Amino acid sequence: MEKEIKQLSQVFESWENGVILETVDGVIADWNKGAHDLYGYSAEDVVGREHSFLVPFDVKDNTLEVFKKIRQGEPSACYDTVHKRKDDSRVHVSLTVSPLKDESGSVIAFVIFVRNTAEREQTKELFDAITQSSPIGIYIVQDGIFQYINRQFERIIGYNMNELLSTKSLGYIHPEDRELVRNSAVNGLKSGVCQPYEYRVVTKSGQIKWILETVISYRTQGKRATLGNFMDITESKRMQEETRHANEKLTGMVKQLEGQRRQSVILAEMRDMLQACSKMAETAPIIMGYMKKLFPASQGALFLLSNSRSDLESIVTWGGFPTNPDDNIFTPDACWGLRRGRAHVVDDVNIEPICPHLKHTPTSSYVCLPLMAKGDILGLLHLMNDFNIKESGQDQAIVDLKEMAVTLSEYLSLSLANVKLSENLSMQSIQDPQSGLYNRRFMEESLQREILRAARKQAQIGIIMADLDHFKKFNDVYGHAAGDKIISQMGKLLKDKFRGSDIACRYGGEEFLVILPESSREDTVKRADTLREEVKKMEIVFQGQILGAITVSMGVAAYPANGTRMEELLRVADTALYKAKQEGRDRVVSG
Ligand code: GH3
Ligand code: MG
Ligand code: MG
Repeated sequence: MEKEIKQLSQVFESWENGVILETVDGVIADWNKGAHDLYGYSAEDVVGREHSFLVPFDVKDNTLEVFKKIRQGEPSACYDTVHKRKDDSRVHVSLTVSPLKDESGSVIAFVIFVRNTAEREQTKELFDAITQSSPIGIYIVQDGIFQYINRQFERIIGYNMNELLSTKSLGYIHPEDRELVRNSAVNGLKSGVCQPYEYRVVTKSGQIKWILETVISYRTQGKRATLGNFMDITESKRMQEETRHANEKLTGMVKQLEGQRRQSVILAEMRDMLQACSKMAETAPIIMGYMKKLFPASQGALFLLSNSRSDLESIVTWGGFPTNPDDNIFTPDACWGLRRGRAHVVDDVNIEPICPHLKHTPTSSYVCLPLMAKGDILGLLHLMNDFNIKESGQDQAIVDLKEMAVTLSEYLSLSLANVKLSENLSMQSIQDPQSGLYNRRFMEESLQREILRAARKQAQIGIIMADLDHFKKFNDVYGHAAGDKIISQMGKLLKDKFRGSDIACRYGGEEFLVILPESSREDTVKRADTLREEVKKMEIVFQGQILGAITVSMGVAAYPANGTRMEELLRVADTALYKAKQEGRDRVVSG
């Protein structure tokens, strides 16, 4: 046995690390040069001494306990401790204890391998110095348990090591981001290259912070561990968010401005078009077109005040606005907008008062925009969101309209007032106000034009010249005002009884002239006779009194039979009329 130990000693002698041979009682039997270098004692100095000789007084020596366990069956043991050197300095050592056994398997001695761990300690200190001073949060996790966190980790997350041990690993991660972290970390670790990833944590104080993290996997004590490092990017995230928000706001504003610019371009265009209109009827399709452009997802109608000023009548409807008469004619007091003289905006049809003129129950928000000029009602623009039109921005329609209601109604009112004015002016120059018929000047222009056209088309023209019978007497009996009433009633009758293409005029005093283009002499005589009957049947009520019937005499002339020039035709008609009077009045005589 001695021999074997000697051989073993020779082997150990060549080892750089320290090897100590001890008896089962912990008495040093030998040690090699490595141990000599480490402790400063030669083998002679220590052989025969107890192991505890190497252990400082304040460090517990558990060598004998380790020996005992090994003798009881444990294969070997490994532990770190502190030993003292010959010069009384201390050294951190890592001891690996293995038994030496005889043939029967009994432990006869122990071999202790000693390794100076000072270097390891230094590395650890350096690691600590680096990580604890780092502005980056650092942690090590192994088997799902925190092994290490640095100060910055604690500062950012708020938990200390003890608290982390008692919570689940990574339990401080925002619940919504746990999956993301798991995936990013696992994938990163698998591929070996971990891309930085961002997630939120809930700190100990309940604050939510944004983290930018990378992880790396490494091997320690035979097992894999994860080293994570992260930065608190809450502030930069906040700024990013603010910038994004500001950008969005800016984009929104630019869009709004663009929208407004687009709207004002459309409005200006509409105003130009309306300025070029000379009749109210011409304005309807123009307004409808521009309303469709401005509010594509809406339906509506434009109403104008009738000549009698008692009703509003739609002159155009669009986008599914009902066409039944109930919805298209109403009195001004049936609209809240007209009653109050300003836009009536209904956002919620279940809460706000609905205008009685809407016979169909509106299904969505709508606006009634009165069109007024100098305090007078001209008409009404009605617009309603149309949810049947599936276009983007339909909710926007009423919002836009509300915002531009005043501008739009001013534009429309002014333009329509101008058109109406010019229509009135041009009517005044061609119309006789008392009868509402065309005047003599217009009749002459028209007749000249019709003669030219008839000559081109080789068509005929009929002319009726009519004169009320004994009108002077009528005036004398009932008064001049009653006579006036007859003149205007004659105007209405002539307008009603003749076609749109016929031109009925007041020729003078109680004389009328009707031009019937493309009408033969026979037809004209027939029509004149019908008129004569109608005049006779005309019931004239004046100041509550039914006046006596009136009759009319008529002379008919025909183009080209009676002449091809206006003067000739008028003369023939006049002569025929004279003849009718001569023959006893209340009759038609053809020239
Ligand atoms: P007849 O034509 O049948 O021969 O008889 P008359 O009485 O109608 O004949 P005359 O042409 O001499 O008289 C026309 C009268 O009509 C003269 C005028 O007082 C009247 N008169 C013409 N224009 C108007 C008008 O606008 N209002 C009223 N109240 N009377 C008018
Ligand atoms: Mg006369
Ligand atoms: Mg007369």
